[in-house]
Amino acid sequence: YPTMKKHNYSAGPCILPQDVFEEAAQAVVNFNNSDLSILEISHRSKDFIAVMEEARALVLELLQLENKGYQVLFLAGGASLEFLMVPYNLMAQHGKAAYLDTGTWASNAIKEAKPFGETVIVASSKEQNYTFIPKGFDIPNDASYFHCTSNNTIFGTQMKSFPKTNVPLVCDMSSDIFSRTLDFSQFDLIYAGAQKNMGPAGTTLVVVKESILGKTGRYIPSMLDYEKHIKAESMYNTPPVFPIYASLLTLRWLKKLGGIAAIEKINEAKAQLLYDEIDRNPLFKGTAAPEDRSIMNATFLLLDENHVPIFDKMWKDAGISGLTGHRSVGGYRASMYNALPLESVHVLVDVMKELELVVCK
Ligand code: PLP
Repeated sequence: YPTMKKHNYSAGPCILPQDVFEEAAQAVVNFNNSDLSILEISHRSKDFIAVMEEARALVLELLQLENKGYQVLFLAGGASLEFLMVPYNLMAQHGKAAYLDTGTWASNAIKEAKPFGETVIVASSKEQNYTFIPKGFDIPNDASYFHCTSNNTIFGTQMKSFPKTNVPLVCDMSSDIFSRTLDFSQFDLIYAGAQKNMGPAGTTLVVVKESILGKTGRYIPSMLDYEKHIKAESMYNTPPVFPIYASLLTLRWLKKLGGIAAIEKINEAKAQLLYDEIDRNPLFKGTAAPEDRSIMNATFLLLDENHVPIFDKMWKDAGISGLTGHRSVGGYRASMYNALPLESVHVLVDVMKELELVVCK
């Protein structure tokens, strides 16, 4: 990792390696020595088609999904539009879909699916302010699909395993895509807003097993139809060229680093370092159930509110930014996306230790 300007713990958008920002900035001025900006070349030119093709291929390579019937799309509209596109494309007419309610984003997905048919909430941790991932639930066999959120960005919980089910498995991986090794072939549809681990806001990654599409019998407006986007090789209309190009640079960076297995080791080391300090330091308390703690977003509190002003000054003085928790949870949230180096976590842990020294003096 090149030296960072700040230790950026922000939940997004968007946390990318410094070299990616620099290379992407250069391409805005002069792309591939063409004397044209990536923003002004035709998206139908061979240079941009090469960007799109490489990005789509790298996604399959990094997820180890090559030659398994998956298609990759870079769409616009954010992960929030997928909350709607998923039921549009997958929920049978007068059918039902099953959802796991693990947080704000999961419940937003449920809300969008409701007008399409029966939405069965198989389990929810809402009553406990989403501090854990419900387990041991049943998925109805006649559901068109089961939808879950792998990482709950706001509450700092993460699914460590996924149910075995005979219905298609759909997963919102917006905040932990490319961060840990999983058997990605257990999923029939994965989607993720680019803006945490992949690229700038403005494109959403969709990885879908083609065989699950085209079965609902309903009319789907063109822009919301996965099959239309697949047929047009992810260029049904003008694609968000800059976010896709910057995503490609991040995917290349990840591949060079050793792929998902390599970044997972670093992510685990970062999370271990921070959670160990949260558990050791008598001034702090983690808010998520320990077994469900996210390696991407760590949520924690200061037990004594009186320590907040001094702690806030200390971490800001140490060059840390974006540590404030989401407004619905309060406290602190350390988002440790792929681009945050281990060095930054050492800086935060040192500040937490220093606070203990100052307060307990
Ligand atoms: N899903 C998850 C898990 C998220 O963290 C977010 C945003 O942070 C979203 C969905 C919504 O993404 P977008 O803003 O791209 O619609």
